[in-house]
Amino acid sequence: MIDPVRMRTLSGILRQVASRQSFFAGVVRMQQPLPKKAQLVTPFLFRIDWKDGAVSEYKARDLRLACPCASCIEEGTGRPLLDPSTVKEDILFMGSELVGRYGLAFIWSDGHKTGIFDWPRLRQLGELRSGA
Ligand SMILES: [Zn+2]
Repeated sequence: MIDPVRMRTLSGILRQVASRQSFFAGVVRMQQPLPKKAQLVTPFLFRIDWKDGAVSEYKARDLRLACPCASCIEEGTGRPLLDPSTVKEDILFMGSELVGRYGLAFIWSDGHKTGIFDWPRLRQLGELRSGA
């Protein structure tokens, strides 16, 4: 038979964990830029319409060069491992995929598809471009 005191303690802990998680989820939702629409405009151009009305556009090669995956950026140090000269000028998007609420994964014509871009990063990359 299960000790009722232990049961109560356990369910109390579970409740605490659950409320903490929803607290953090709320904080993330508030700070996170959210997309309204994300789409390939052409094989060379990806566009995101944000919920706050901002619009970001990304060239295939620019995003490929900004790929944050572990084979392009050294984990921990952030040192770039990707040599830009190895990325063709005419590289294009082969597709994109939503990664839950987290962000987007892109597939490029060089076969690369391990990079997952979270929304804040995409927003930042978009702002860097439009500010240039
Ligand atoms: Zn990568």
